[in-house]
Amino acid sequence: MNCQICSSRKLVHVVSLGHHALPDVFVTPAEATEPFTVYPLDLYVCGQCWLAQIGYQVDPDLLFRDFVYTTESNPASKPHFGRLTTSLVERFQLGNEDLAVDLASNDGTLLEQYDGRVRILGVDPSSATAGAMAKGVPTIVDFFTEATAKHILATWQPARVITTMNAFAHIKELDAFMGGVVTLLAEDGVFVSESHHLQNVITGMQYDLIHHEHLRFYSLRPLTVLFDRYGLEIFDVEETTTQGGSLLVYAGRTGVRPVSPNVGRLLAQETAAGLYSIDTYVAWAARLAQSKRRLLSLLYDLKSQGATIAGVGASAKGNTILNYCGIRPDLLDYITDGSELKQGRLAPGSLIPVTGDEELLDRQPDYALVLTANLKDIIIGKLRGKGYRGRFIVAGEVPSTE
Ligand SMILES: [Zn+2]
Repeated sequence: MNCQICSSRKLVHVVSLGHHALPDVFVTPAEATEPFTVYPLDLYVCGQCWLAQIGYQVDPDLLFRDFVYTTESNPASKPHFGRLTTSLVERFQLGNEDLAVDLASNDGTLLEQYDGRVRILGVDPSSATAGAMAKGVPTIVDFFTEATAKHILATWQPARVITTMNAFAHIKELDAFMGGVVTLLAEDGVFVSESHHLQNVITGMQYDLIHHEHLRFYSLRPLTVLFDRYGLEIFDVEETTTQGGSLLVYAGRTGVRPVSPNVGRLLAQETAAGLYSIDTYVAWAARLAQSKRRLLSLLYDLKSQGATIAGVGASAKGNTILNYCGIRPDLLDYITDGSELKQGRLAPGSLIPVTGDEELLDRQPDYALVLTANLKDIIIGKLRGKGYRGRFIVAGEVPSTE
């Protein structure tokens, strides 16, 4: 096996999280009585460029065919993309003749925020694009490659801005994708990507980010290696709160823009956090196993005392927690979620039934396990506001109740 960015064979196995069903394919009750396929979920780190990555890569057609996540289902998306698009228009002086392309554009939520200030185009292979079409956001339903970029150039124009938000780590054919980016990008164009920052997986024990859609866990250093191969240079970087801590990375053609001191500062921060040292990952794997034992102890104790426990937030991340820890319907009665696409189905692997949020309010279980830890403040606030009176359990390094 070779590193997904630098092709080095110096991959170090960090931890196995077991075999998992596809994390976003919620199954029907009929399907739940049939056999299903599980895939190994192992974390590796490259000793050459320090990219953290999973070992087994599932065929993207299988992974995204029944993709049920929509951007607008995340309440934090719209305000975040609103601020970002305004900042891009102002900082890079975009006008209404300029083209902004969003890759993995999903339901078009980001592109809508440009609000007529630029020409917009989305590219995304998933069924979530139906939402974009319904809103009139121009969208090409396909994977993005060099061929797609050439197709766009034939009918549109080079892109002043290309964005990809929380999807850059999901792309299996990374070289085809980057070839497309450099083909489509204008000479002074900017490629903006937002990806979860590996540092938070390590320091914040955000292991739920590890699932089969998330092939890579970026820190800045491996991204500089990747971009350099395509004649691109990172000229600025910001830390954001998205997904529990992300990097917003600005890249352009090498030498076109001055490089902000933020870049060197972040590389130094990553070095200080131990991201470029194997010892960090060995220690992390031990802490991960301990966090699992703590969560299971808590759940078993509560269940033995006769408590009722429901999960809240049926997400790909939550499914990592459930399947890594081996939590099944005998520990968690049901999971509530606002998405009608998931209600009436069962969570992949654990086969815990998914119901609507109102079930939590009707049944008032003693405890609610928050399965979307990165959105915990929003979820807890929302459910308290609606009248849930029980206590919340938040998974993490030391599971807590509040
Ligand atoms: Zn590497």
